[in-house]
Amino acid sequence: MLEDKNPQRTPLSEYGEFGLIDHLTQNFELQQESSHTGIGDDAAVIDPGSDKIVVSTDLLMEGVHFDLGFAPLKHLGYKAVMVNLSDIYAMNATPTQITVSIAVSNRFPVEALEELYDGIHLACKIYKVDLVGGDTTSSQQGLAISITAIGKAGEETLVYRNGAKPNDLLVVSGDLGAAYLGLQVLKREQEVFKVNPQNQPDLQPYTYLVERQLKPEARGDIKELLAELGVKPTSMIDISDGLSSEIIHLCKSSKVGCNLFEDKIPLDPQVISTCEEFQMSSSTVALGGGEDYELLFTISQDDYQKIKANPNLSVIGHMTEEKEGIHLITRMNTKIPLQARGWNALNDEGKEISKDD
Ligand code: ADP
Ligand code: MG
Repeated sequence: MLEDKNPQRTPLSEYGEFGLIDHLTQNFELQQESSHTGIGDDAAVIDPGSDKIVVSTDLLMEGVHFDLGFAPLKHLGYKAVMVNLSDIYAMNATPTQITVSIAVSNRFPVEALEELYDGIHLACKIYKVDLVGGDTTSSQQGLAISITAIGKAGEETLVYRNGAKPNDLLVVSGDLGAAYLGLQVLKREQEVFKVNPQNQPDLQPYTYLVERQLKPEARGDIKELLAELGVKPTSMIDISDGLSSEIIHLCKSSKVGCNLFEDKIPLDPQVISTCEEFQMSSSTVALGGGEDYELLFTISQDDYQKIKANPNLSVIGHMTEEKEGIHLITRMNTKIPLQARGWNALNDEGKEISKDD
């Protein structure tokens, strides 16, 4: 489906491990003051100053978390960084460094890894993080990428999952469900292509959905926005799995309940129209879909005036006493318990195994 823009195929063996790492990382420059020593020694050296250090890791496996049939490697590199930066932002911290480890089979040419590192490089430049190390190994099959993100924050700035209080407002950035639908669209086009390779996909009605799936952005802007507005969330989490399971994580960590209002869930018009086309419920998609990389957080009611007019933020519910439970108030005004996932027959394939599975 995707054109091979880079027809040259240099075997990995032509470089050897050191040559390959040098080749892939030669254009990366250190931008952060705290990056004392980067790639090239046995370990990177980071100078935290007076800040707390925040660390998060994700592992992405070909065939489980991504499909190279429709995810171009450059996008994959970019997304792999975003997934990690999103976790750092969800602590209300600033990402500063990443390490990138890859396991790669020799069916990949050097040019494929160049594309992957182009995406990683772009993400590093835009988000001002430094690539300071990693590991490279061969794999029997396919590609695996593990990225560790390191960030910093003053102790008083950090936001955990466990600080929500009854009566706090539940707020989400951006809109939900688009990344999941983008994947459904790409899978459908892939099936069509298998049957008829002459058939050119028309992705025009789905541009936003496909972009949200292939090239998500971590919401560092929300961290800055909240600082400008003078709002410190009482708890926060990023939406990697789907709204309902992330709400449940926040509630369990904070020992509170929640009322979520279905009619307040922010949806892009393309999500609504594509759900109609696919005959799916847009709420189901937003609640269970995942991969949106938006921030979900709680704020004190006192801060409502500061955020209420902001188009990037939607108040979608409020926290309650723990014993009241976690509920969805539907458009028909019925109250039903919120379930972690499979809220309605959403396909769980390829999802990360979470602790409560
Ligand atoms: P070691 O044998 O100590 O693991 P390596 O030869 O794997 O060292 O790595 C040499 C240097 O290159 C180290 O600074 C390491 O962090 C970095 N490095 C290795 N692989 C990668 C990679 N895939 N991406 C970025 N940096 C890497
Ligand atoms: Mg190594």
